[in-house]
Amino acid sequence: MLVVMQSQATEAQVRAVCDRIESLGYKALPVPGAGRTAVCITGNSGAVDIGSLESMPGVIECIPVSKPYKLVSRDVKEETTVVRIKTPLGEVSFGGSAVGMVAGPCAIETREQAFAVAERVKKAGARLFRGGAYKPRTSPYSFQGLGEPGLKLLAEVRDQFGLGIVTEAIDNESLDLVEKYADVIQIGARNMQNFSLLKRAGKSQKPILLKRGMSATLDEFLMAAEYVMSEGNYNVILCERGVRTFSDHTRNTLDLSVVPAVQRRSHLPIVVDPSHGTGKRAKVLPLSRAAIAVGADGLLVEVHHDPDRALSDGMQSILPDEFEQLIKESRQIAGVLNRKIN
Ligand code: PEP
Ligand code: MN
Repeated sequence: MLVVMQSQATEAQVRAVCDRIESLGYKALPVPGAGRTAVCITGNSGAVDIGSLESMPGVIECIPVSKPYKLVSRDVKEETTVVRIKTPLGEVSFGGSAVGMVAGPCAIETREQAFAVAERVKKAGARLFRGGAYKPRTSPYSFQGLGEPGLKLLAEVRDQFGLGIVTEAIDNESLDLVEKYADVIQIGARNMQNFSLLKRAGKSQKPILLKRGMSATLDEFLMAAEYVMSEGNYNVILCERGVRTFSDHTRNTLDLSVVPAVQRRSHLPIVVDPSHGTGKRAKVLPLSRAAIAVGADGLLVEVHHDPDRALSDGMQSILPDEFEQLIKESRQIAGVLNRKIN
């Protein structure tokens, strides 16, 4: 159930509606929009008895929400959410007319490696640097990431180059640490339905980049975002990173059609990761072009200065020169759609 407030409703009126909802034993989550605030009622197992809610001052109407997801839904908030990330080099936005860029290695390996890639990524025009200090690997014998020393290197990258940091938390324990260092906390595909991690991410003050599980349906993907939002963190960026299919010419099948599908159902921005989405260096540029053309709100790209010696995902990491080209072409395609890469 959604309680739609008048555009001129006062804060006190919104508060009174929330108090009434809570006195009925439900949870009230106000979602402020450009034109009006809507109050979302959650915590109900069946139909909500709206009682006198509809006649309270400032209320326009009560609308039943039939979809399982509420806070992520466009029914609750019509206008697209723009997630803004502050970096020392300025703000990077995702959503609306803004297309955000995130680039960097799969994993942080050494200071030399992190600095070499950061320097080139910055030169190409990106202001958000990615790199995992905690890596969710299929094999326990593969490189698992440097852990906190890796986060410290990311902090050095931030200081030295002014780049904002996007890095992954793989469990509640690492999230406690990651949130101290990151500007954006990444939740990986393998953790998309790690509900305790999603709830913990919902309590964080930092924006969350949530990757789609490799076999997650659209509803499951949006419900994962709902978990984060239901705990109070509304700064969620979705990320399509490819799903498992019978196709064996790529590591995953990049499901670009999910971008307009998400944008139709949800106000949240969605970015595309063509690196994990294809698993092949030569396919990253063509699929990046396609992602921008289909309307993605950003790209997350793996870049390495020496990919043949990378400790993880070298096969899909592009070279810095290729990334420069990628940004250049993405700018041109975004321009056709009246959007700006930032
Ligand atoms: C990553 O971004 O390096 C990563 C592990 O991605 P995913 O969770 O999509 O596999
Ligand atoms: Mn990777």
